[in-house]
Amino acid sequence: MSARDWIEKDFYRELGVSSDASADEIKKSYRKLARELHPDANPGDAKAEARFKAVSEAYGVLSDPAKRKQYDEARRLFAGGGGFPGGFGGGGGFDVNDLFGRAAQGTGGGGLGDLLGGLFNRRGGGAGSATRPRRGEDVETDVRIDFTEAVKGATVPLRLSSPAACSTCGGSGAKPGTMPHVCATCSGSGLVTRSQGAFAFSEPCRDCRGTGRIIDDPCPECGGDGVSTRTRTLTVRIPSGVDDGQRIRLAGQGEPGRNGGPSGDLFVRVHVNPHSIFGRKGNDLTLTAPMTFSELALGTTLTVPTLDGKVTLKVPAGTASGRVLRARDKGITKRDGTSGDLLITLEVAVPNNLSSEARKALEAYADVTKDHDPRGDLNALLEGR
Ligand SMILES: [Zn+2]
Ligand SMILES: [Zn+2]
Repeated sequence: MSARDWIEKDFYRELGVSSDASADEIKKSYRKLARELHPDANPGDAKAEARFKAVSEAYGVLSDPAKRKQYDEARRLFAGGGGFPGGFGGGGGFDVNDLFGRAAQGTGGGGLGDLLGGLFNRRGGGAGSATRPRRGEDVETDVRIDFTEAVKGATVPLRLSSPAACSTCGGSGAKPGTMPHVCATCSGSGLVTRSQGAFAFSEPCRDCRGTGRIIDDPCPECGGDGVSTRTRTLTVRIPSGVDDGQRIRLAGQGEPGRNGGPSGDLFVRVHVNPHSIFGRKGNDLTLTAPMTFSELALGTTLTVPTLDGKVTLKVPAGTASGRVLRARDKGITKRDGTSGDLLITLEVAVPNNLSSEARKALEAYADVTKDHDPRGDLNALLEGR
């Protein structure tokens, strides 16, 4: 990343947000774009991959309040460019560095050198901010598992693609076996002083694009920018009882830190495929059991499947359709050893067609029960109108 790149790049436009966007808006927009442009979702699409890199880079700066402030400041300072001199008439020898020095004091830095050091990740610059340890970015990804896997727990392989320091050149951008050399134009500072009339300007060195280094033989893998897309496979243990939409945090499995900083975290969002028979309410499993009218009216014993066997329950005579029976501890076992229940909803199943014998039997039943009106309350309300 060179100074000029940084100033000329519009990270806000890259993320599709305005320059006064809140941290939340930036995060939301980044997540949406990262999902759309992720190499896994666009295999072989170089354009999407380039955009993915650009968006990641923009988010890397704008998501860090200190860096965002530096970026905003640098853009403001450099945006004027040739416009500066007009503003300061008069005496010779005015060095714009004084102005930058003052402007940078607010950030706690010691002037432009520090400001740029922090901004441009200049190597070998010696200033503290360039080598300050930085925590790696958090990474979020999705995984889809089956219902039974969610209940029992599962081990799933996870493929992750993310921009990372190029493994071929170790991030230096130089072909392995070669070394970048110090830029002769700026003596490695990444800045040159230019005189314009009475004024002296410091600006990013054009020869090294502000990096202070010249790469003679660029790395064939990353083309010299030191960043490449890394694919790694992780084995993730999904704990038993995980619910659809739940996020699992894997500490230290995110992006590696810089300059010895700790790695970020990996967040895995779990999507659970529905089961053909079982449903779920928290740690309880649910199940609907179709029943005949006579089973509910006369009572019966009912055997239903559980996730790992079966359970037999007594259905008392005169049980209403829609009643829920509870089989204790046949639900989802949590990590602390406690279990939910299996909730069985009894639902009367009406036959589509009847044999003539069955019809006769039912008509006989209807005849002997004609004095019982199950809609007594409804009819009383009808008659009151
Ligand atoms: Zn490389
Ligand atoms: Zn240079």
